[in-house]
Amino acid sequence: MITCPWCGTHYERFQSNCDNCGGSLPLPAERPPTPAGKRLPTPPPPPRQVPGNYAWRVLSTDGGAIGATVFSLLGAIFAIVGGILTISVVAIFVGLPFAALGTVFLLIGIPLLITRYEQAQQTVQVLQHGEAVLGQIVDVHQNYHVRINGRSPWIVTYQFEASGRQYQGKVSTLSRPDLGQQPGQPIYVLYQPNDPQQNTSYPYPYGYYDL
Ligand SMILES: [Zn+2]
Repeated sequence: MITCPWCGTHYERFQSNCDNCGGSLPLPAERPPTPAGKRLPTPPPPPRQVPGNYAWRVLSTDGGAIGATVFSLLGAIFAIVGGILTISVVAIFVGLPFAALGTVFLLIGIPLLITRYEQAQQTVQVLQHGEAVLGQIVDVHQNYHVRINGRSPWIVTYQFEASGRQYQGKVSTLSRPDLGQQPGQPIYVLYQPNDPQQNTSYPYPYGYYDL
């Protein structure tokens, strides 16, 4: 069975693209199953078709982006409420600090959000055009500092070799890693050949497997 790495739709037989989201499907697995009896989905060669607006999906699992969004929203509310209060002379001593605080929040939150969005777009670039290599998981742990929809994401750290050098990367996932996703297990990594620091796991977000 083939599972779409972008939306999770299952297919009995191989086809090049997902009917549901249009994304490129993994090649039929040739590698032996992991200890959990699962096979690593093999990345198709670039360019891979990534569903539209996938950068937003990347952002939705990014704790930093969620923090920046909350910060920006608070800033906007403070700035608006402060601005309204400032109009009435009585409230000017309350309104001005409120508006100032809101502006500071916005000045921090919005650039941070833009940075995270640019990073998400880079991740999409790597998913589309990255070179595939088999790496190894070195660490798996849960990040309790972040909660997304009531769940803390798992951080999977991996290492891989590119042009004779070792690199490390990490990916965040909301699905609990299973037996085949533990330190020492293989993982497919996609990286930009001219800048291997730009890398991500395949599939992304890590967690979809062929059964
Ligand atoms: Zn799909």
